[in-house]
Formats: sequence, C-alpha cells, structure tokens
Amino acid sequence: MQKFKSYTLNKLEKIPQLSGLSEEQMEEIKIVSSIYPFKTNNYVLEKLIDWNNIPDDPIFRLNFPHKEMLQTEDFEQLKEVRANGTEQEIKQVIYDIRMKLNPHPAGQTDLNGAYLGEEKLEGIQHKYNDILLFFPSQSQTCHAYCTFCFRWPQFINDLDFKIQSKEIDPLLEYLERNPQISEVLFTGGDPMIMNSRVLDSYIEPLLKVDSITTIRIGTKALSYWPYKFTTDDDAEGMLNVLQKITDAGKHLGFMAHFNHPVELEPPVVKEAIDNLRKVGATIRTQSPLLRFINNSAETWTTMWERQVQLNCIPYYMFLPRDTGAQHYFAETLESAYELYTEAIRNCTGLASTAKGPVMSMTHGKVEILGVNDNVYTLRYVKHRDNSKTFKVFTAEPTTPKPMWIDDLVEVKSEITNY
Ligand SMILES: *Cc1c(COP(=O)(O)O)cnc(C)c1O
Ligand code: SF4
Repeated sequence: MQKFKSYTLNKLEKIPQLSGLSEEQMEEIKIVSSIYPFKTNNYVLEKLIDWNNIPDDPIFRLNFPHKEMLQTEDFEQLKEVRANGTEQEIKQVIYDIRMKLNPHPAGQTDLNGAYLGEEKLEGIQHKYNDILLFFPSQSQTCHAYCTFCFRWPQFINDLDFKIQSKEIDPLLEYLERNPQISEVLFTGGDPMIMNSRVLDSYIEPLLKVDSITTIRIGTKALSYWPYKFTTDDDAEGMLNVLQKITDAGKHLGFMAHFNHPVELEPPVVKEAIDNLRKVGATIRTQSPLLRFINNSAETWTTMWERQVQLNCIPYYMFLPRDTGAQHYFAETLESAYELYTEAIRNCTGLASTAKGPVMSMTHGKVEILGVNDNVYTLRYVKHRDNSKTFKVFTAEPTTPKPMWIDDLVEVKSEITNY
C-alpha cells in the first residue's frame, strides 16, 4: 500500500528529488511559493515527474512554482524584502502582491451567492439555474496544488478568502426552496480529500432530496492520488458511499481534472477509473489549456484519445482565468482556438466531445466558435440568464493579442449585453 506523504513549503528541503537544484533555484521556488500556495506529494514526485527533464517537465511545471509566475518587479521586490526586510514588511509585500493578482475573479463571492431570506449561505454558489456548487469545509485542500489554480486564495489561511460550508442543513433548506435545482456539484479544493465518513454525512441526506437527480464531484484525485480508489485503507468505504448514489437511482458524475497525458499512464489510474465505473460513476474530463504544460494540439489529441480508451468522456477545454499567474499560463484566444481545432481534427469522433476553448466569466461560460479577419464568433454554452444560453455573438479585440473575454468588445449579436 502507498502511504500518502505531502510536502508543503516548510518541507521543501526534504524533497529528495530536489537535491540536485542550485541554491538559487530553491530560493526562486520559495519566493514564488510565498505568494501562491505550494504542495506536492510522493505519488507526483515518484510517478509523474520526469526528473531528467526538469524544469521543463510538464508535471514539474504543474506543481512547482517558478519565477516567471510573478511579474519581474514583484519578484524582485519580494526577493529584496525577504533578504533585508522585517517580518512585518515581508507580510505587507506578500499581501500587496496577492491583492494585485485578482484573487476573486468573475464576481464569485458577490454575484454567485445563495440566500435564505437575508442570510447568505456559506460554501454555496448558485450561478446557473439548475445546478449548485457546494464547498464542504473539509475539502478546502487538494492532494497537491496546481501552479495555475484559479482557486489559489482558498488555500491561504491568513486571508479571509475562503468559501466553505460546515453544515448540510442550510444546503438542504435551500434545495427545498429551489426545486428547479437538479444537480449538486461538490467542489473545493478537492472533495476527494474527504474521507468516506465525512462524505457520507453530506451524501446521505442529499439522497433523500427527490429534486436532485445528479451528484457531481469535481476532483483531481485520479491524477494526484488515485490510490484513493484502490489501495487506501478507506478506498472500499469511499466506493461504498459512492455506490449509494447510484443505488438511489441518481447520476454520479465525476468531473475529473487531467492536464497532461502523462497523468493517465500509471496503471493505478486505470484501476481507480475501473473501480469508479463499477460503482456506476460516469467520468468526464476537463482541463485548462496552459502554456508550458499542455499547449500543443498533439498533447490534447493524445490525452483525449487515451481518456476514451480508459472510458472517460472529454468534456471541457478551459482557458486559464484572469487571476493569479494567468499572464504566464494563457495562450492568446486566437492560438487557443487554432490549437483546439487542430487537436479535435486529429481525434476520433468519440474523443472529440470536449467543448472549447471555454472561458468561465462573470455572466457565463463562453466558447470560441471561430476567428476570422480579427472577428471572434462566440457562444455562451451557459449563461446565468438562461434565455441567453447558446446564443451566438461576435466581438472584436481591443488589444493586439486578446487573452480573455475582457479584451474583446461585442459588435453584433442576438443578445445585447454580456
Ligand atoms: C461550470 C459551472 C457549472 C457546471 O457547468 P456545466 O456546463 O453544466 O458542466 C456549474 N456552476 C458553476 C458556477 C460553473 O462555473
Ligand atoms: S486540484 Fe483543482 S482546486 Fe486543487 S490546486 Fe489543482 S486546480 Fe486548484
């Protein structure tokens, strides 16, 4: 049995594989990790990263922060204050840089609130009519942290950024008052960090809600700790809880997060997927498109084809959100579109099911349908005002290299505002 062993910033020196790095390289990781949360684990270190290929190895890039994730002036300022400043000064610089990184994009905290009367419910986001996001307090961490994570502020203790719920009762009451909601999506962090007993305390009461026909679980455990569903002490217990969902006649949808085909290779991943399918789960996959990690069409074709072989369904190709190190990870909208179409062209039909490239923004999820003569054709695959869902519109860039929806302005559409 594999024992889970995680490494955070204060255990960086203990990671055996890093012993070959220079002091300067280590210092770089420490500087950037003082802004973005850092965590990796023994499975990622031993089975996923190719240590002959660092720093360019995609999984190394996925877990280990690097200098370019900060703007040069921020990096230099931080380096300087860490060397010569007081504790208080260091804290202040860290805080200021974090605030510049748009920690809460797309009105998540303001616009997506769920209310019972005047009371705003903790740990629930209700953006789209029929589906609710639920953030259990026990799932506000992951088996490792992705450098590009758009939820990065959730993992930082001393900032009051957390979105989490300790209780199920307000959720149940909200569902009762909103019978149009048919799906609950467990998210975090990673809900599959929870043990089976805690998960069960949420699932059991939900199964009694007739209006809920689907339970989704957003997770990266199949990539960062597949033993969760195979050899962990709690694996059988976990599978039993999941089985209850399908036994109750509800759809169990795993939204699995894979960023690179390497994550699909270890045999334990197939075992984990097979075990989930045995309890009736359907596994759909999603990932953002990321420079330095997966920005080639071939990588996506390979990833999607392999997912189909493993009986997973490609679902979304996202663009990295406008928070954190987006400036470092994002492709331009045009190259993202080119890359997506090339990847799909080389896929079999069954592997070409992913919507994309998709931006999740304030009003909804926007898909790029085409780019011609600098005019972008776009569509909401989901809009918070459902009457606008699937409407097509066109937009033109306001900057030479648009990277996000904010860099476009609408020119002609079936709808008037986005
Ligand atoms: C993406 C998302 C969902 C789920 O969207 P699907 O397109 O149905 O997978 C639900 N709620 C929020 C807030 C989302 O961003
Ligand atoms: S697994 Fe998901 S929530 Fe966790 S760090 Fe990665 S992207 Fe963020």
